[in-house]
Amino acid sequence: MFTLAIVGRPNVGKSTLFNRLVGKRLALVDDQPGVTRDLREGTARLGDLRFEVIDTAGLEDATDDSLPGRMRRLTERAIAVADASLFLVDARTGLTPTDREVADLLRRSGHPVLLAANKSEGQAAEAGFLEAYELGLGEPLALSAEHGEGMAELAAVLRPLIDAHVDEEADAGVGVIEGEEDLEDWRPTAKRPLQVAVVGRPNAGKSTLINRIIGEDRLLTGPEAGITRDSIALGFDWDGVPMRLFDTAGMRKKAKVQEKLEKLSVSDGLRAVKFAEVVVVLLDAAIPFESQDLRIADLAAREGRAVVVAVNKWDLEENRQEKLAELKEAFERLLPQLRGAPLVTVSARTGRGLDRLHAAILKSHEVWNRRVPTARLNQWLEAMVGAHPPPAPQGRRIKLRYITQAKTRPPGFVVMCSHPDAVPDAYRRYLINGLRLDFDMPGTPIRLHLRGQS
Ligand code: GDP
Ligand code: GDP
Repeated sequence: MFTLAIVGRPNVGKSTLFNRLVGKRLALVDDQPGVTRDLREGTARLGDLRFEVIDTAGLEDATDDSLPGRMRRLTERAIAVADASLFLVDARTGLTPTDREVADLLRRSGHPVLLAANKSEGQAAEAGFLEAYELGLGEPLALSAEHGEGMAELAAVLRPLIDAHVDEEADAGVGVIEGEEDLEDWRPTAKRPLQVAVVGRPNAGKSTLINRIIGEDRLLTGPEAGITRDSIALGFDWDGVPMRLFDTAGMRKKAKVQEKLEKLSVSDGLRAVKFAEVVVVLLDAAIPFESQDLRIADLAAREGRAVVVAVNKWDLEENRQEKLAELKEAFERLLPQLRGAPLVTVSARTGRGLDRLHAAILKSHEVWNRRVPTARLNQWLEAMVGAHPPPAPQGRRIKLRYITQAKTRPPGFVVMCSHPDAVPDAYRRYLINGLRLDFDMPGTPIRLHLRGQS
């Protein structure tokens, strides 16, 4: 779906606008502070338009960086993850030097930008509104996020961008896949690179791995326009597959204090997870499956990403057979939610195993994108129910009527049934495991919703 990032200085009204667009339907809510709340992302409704919106305010971290530095990073992130940005300035306070810097960065990036002067209700805003023309980003929209003014105008400028995006997705075969044959053709394109994040504890070998992957013999297509050295997304081509790699601690200057580094790398990892399609959880073979590893792997699963577990520093292992058996056992026991996800052993130092990692990333991505035709799903459901009918709690017969795949990335299914609340968890798991096995969807989170018919 088309993704719009809202960028701008603190207090210009980003969150207010986000809330207005998304309402209460927040995609990411988590009561664990600092875990997933740091990025707000949701589905916006504006008239008949639907799109994803990201509030970059949530991306700010409490580092002691200067405001311009922070703004630059947030803006770069927006450029990397969104299809377009909505740059908000405050019509009441007028432009600041930081506004001008952000505008420069956006202009140079070539990324589609819409400019809006917020807080435009009333006369106090006129001067600031006119000033916004100075940014060289075209005609500003006059908005009032708080009062809901200018929303029709915003929709009018967004519509062509969203329409163009829909055409592009259709060209790439995204979201309109029907037959099995089409699935075979689904491949990342230069326009739509496969988005990968490498996450893991400090010293797991993330930077070594990334350097190895994008080493001399590979074609570097990044850093992307407007993205500077401590950059956040890197486009490159890995054996013929366009990819985009998201920021992890390994790609930036390391903090001096180890403790700080640890914190940084965890929250960076969390963010990278949100932006990625495939998350590579990198473990150190000597100390695999530590709590930090488990946490991030679990987060990736909960966020619905395709996960590949890579065990690094395999060159140091002596009893490989034995160690592999141990790893598999630990994987199944500690991360049951990732059942079927590929586990590959690699050595970032020597480069061994990288071909397997490449294959695992592609395969996971393909599965994550898979769409099963409705007719096959319903034959399958009939067989599943025939083999093992749902129970009849308190004599209420549960009828599963119909199944359809409502979404991909990750696969999500809806079953229409009577008494959805009465379906036991065990039965739901039976269906999910069946889908996974029968349609060969290992290692991807599968969502299953039971819906009643009214
Ligand atoms: P953020 O830091 O950019 O996310 O800004 P917020 O959304 O938190 O808004 C900062 C302040 O500006 C809050 O007090 C809002 O109530 C106020 N605000 C937001 N939009 C408008 C608006 O359209 N008009 C006016 N007058 N105030 C607004
Ligand atoms: P990061 O903190 O996850 O980015 O980890 P680094 O890439 O900085 O690696 C941490 C340490 O592990 C460095 O000393 C690397 O040289 C070492 N290292 C990384 N990958 C391997 C590997 O495959 N084998 C061995 N033996 N050492 C590795």
